[in-house]
Amino acid sequence: MRQLRYGTLIPPGFIVEQASREGAEVRIAVRHQTRWGLCPGCGTQSGRVHSRYRRCLADLPMAGRPVRLLLLARRFRCGSVCCGRRIFTERFDPDVLAPWARRTTRLEAVVHTLAIALGGRPAARLARRLVLPVGKDTLLRVVRRRGSPPPVPPTVVGIDDWAWRRNRRYGTIICDLERRRTIALLPDREPATALEWLSSQRQIAVVARDRGGSYALAAAKALPHATQVADRWHLMENASRAFLDAVRTSIRQIRGVLGATTVDPLLLTAAERIQHEGYLRREETNLAILGLAKEGAAIKEIVRRTGHSRGLVRKVLRGQHADVFRVREHSLEVHLPWLEAQWTAGLRNGAELWRRLRQHGFRGSLRVVTEWATRRRKAEKADCSALGRTPSARTIARLLTIGRDGLSKSETITVAAIEDGVPPLVEARDIIAAFQGMIRKRSLADLKPWLARSQASLVASFAAGVTKDLAAVAAAISLPWSNGQTEGQVTKLKLVKRQMYGRGKIDLLQARVIGAA
Ligand SMILES: [Zn+2]
Repeated sequence: MRQLRYGTLIPPGFIVEQASREGAEVRIAVRHQTRWGLCPGCGTQSGRVHSRYRRCLADLPMAGRPVRLLLLARRFRCGSVCCGRRIFTERFDPDVLAPWARRTTRLEAVVHTLAIALGGRPAARLARRLVLPVGKDTLLRVVRRRGSPPPVPPTVVGIDDWAWRRNRRYGTIICDLERRRTIALLPDREPATALEWLSSQRQIAVVARDRGGSYALAAAKALPHATQVADRWHLMENASRAFLDAVRTSIRQIRGVLGATTVDPLLLTAAERIQHEGYLRREETNLAILGLAKEGAAIKEIVRRTGHSRGLVRKVLRGQHADVFRVREHSLEVHLPWLEAQWTAGLRNGAELWRRLRQHGFRGSLRVVTEWATRRRKAEKADCSALGRTPSARTIARLLTIGRDGLSKSETITVAAIEDGVPPLVEARDIIAAFQGMIRKRSLADLKPWLARSQASLVASFAAGVTKDLAAVAAAISLPWSNGQTEGQVTKLKLVKRQMYGRGKIDLLQARVIGAA
């Protein structure tokens, strides 16, 4: 068995002269192995010692005790005639000890890793537990000093903004989309700042950016030959918003259509009948309130005479209490009473219902009956109050765009009424769906016909926006690059920023976000 020697515990290149304990601390006096030094001015070797001095260095802890190396360092005289330096201090392998450093390189590396992973305060807490002799400020200083390694020159970048402070101050983040990492943080989102950075990276061939014009402009100026890609996520989002706007524009017609719908209570399921009765009650209320208002009664007066709350009266008068209820013709119509009875008796299996119903002369398919069962189940769960208010534009937009299978019976009724009554909205929906499908399926050939088709529609202004940014939108459809990844990096960045509390200075943030990879 070999004996453990002090020499194996300290960084290579040094010789232990003496070791002692001073309180909790282990102190090891060391000197350099070599007898000469290299002049940093001229590279000449010199063994002529001018003087000695002590360097006190923190090193990795040993068996739970902090370690201090007491290094007796030397100054040499430079013997070269041509050299301007007369005296120089001895240098060490930078992998062991940097000039002027107060920590060994191996300790510094641990400290750096810790600071990058956790940030100042949490890293300091962990460092204390690990007996590493560094405080919060030292940790941050190490991160700052080490900075971040220069990135591999990128060819495909994503650029986006991110919030330093929500709605107050924004910065710019740039990601290498091929290597999937953040490569730069800029202190603001000014076009000039982005322009300057992009100009220094002439090799960039593709820039993915959102549809805000300023990055597009900066990229066009800095890298006129680069392909710009509109962000797919934003395109999808903008398309959905365009449809929502179309719904808002059509809301008057929608209200008209929904208000005109009628219901035959005999065709309703039991649950629907309850809802329908509620609907009739509310309708009655509305009529009474509106009638009084027409006669010139003030809100106070209406409240007194009808006994309804002030809030409700206000709502009705504002037209926010309008109701909707309608069912469509159904192929199951004549069988509904029978089905309803079976359902109430507890038979709720669609296939079984269909088999029995066929014996009653039903010629329809299995699907019709299972669909009825599904809707019946939903109707049972349906919240009666859901029928009590006019759906908002947002809700209507959602109902019109999700598949029929996802709708409850009352929602299906609403959707059908709007589809029948407001055809331009149906067209707008189809146009938006076509756009989103085009992006998903990467079918660039459809773009031109799509633009022609949408020209006179409710979403014409969205189409005009697409035309304005045509090349970038086309690139978004045909190229694999997208800014979605950059958004992911922004999320990561926010996490790091939150850990840093108020100390989120950009160089520190940059060091932690970029140095961490
Ligand atoms: Zn020299």
